[in-house]
Amino acid sequence: MGIRIHLADIPSEGLEIQGQLTASVFDLPEGDPAHPVGPLSYDLLLLQDEGLVLLEGILQAPFELQCVRCLRTYVQNCVIDPYSGEIDPEGAAAIDLVDTLREDLLLALPPYPHCNESDTDLGECVPPGPLHYESPASPAQTPEGEPPNIWAALDQIDTTPS
Ligand SMILES: [Zn+2]
Repeated sequence: MGIRIHLADIPSEGLEIQGQLTASVFDLPEGDPAHPVGPLSYDLLLLQDEGLVLLEGILQAPFELQCVRCLRTYVQNCVIDPYSGEIDPEGAAAIDLVDTLREDLLLALPPYPHCNESDTDLGECVPPGPLHYESPASPAQTPEGEPPNIWAALDQIDTTPS
């Protein structure tokens, strides 16, 4: 898989390219908390400038990330807009964009993902751990000799104006 561009095919006004690379392009190691769940989409204008190839446009790919706060996994569409990159052909007559696009997108992933920043999968970010409240009907708080009154607590909830 590659996006091979001959420098001679890039006119002075630039070359527009669009397309997708399958998620396997990311080739992340087993156990990496980030999982690509869709293709890397690119929409770029290529320009030559003083021996370099400049890339301008948009990169995006959906990733499954794990929230550092609540440990929930969620999907986020990681978008770089505007994207700008550059490739040094180092004297070659052609370049391949794939490595550059992949690396730049991976660098744009949030290092500390928070699920409430997702654009596709908003949900409650509730950290795991001990509950911060005790049941009001806890037997330990009931006067001796009386059964726990669980219904009183429910009645309070029911009568709360909505
Ligand atoms: Zn979260």
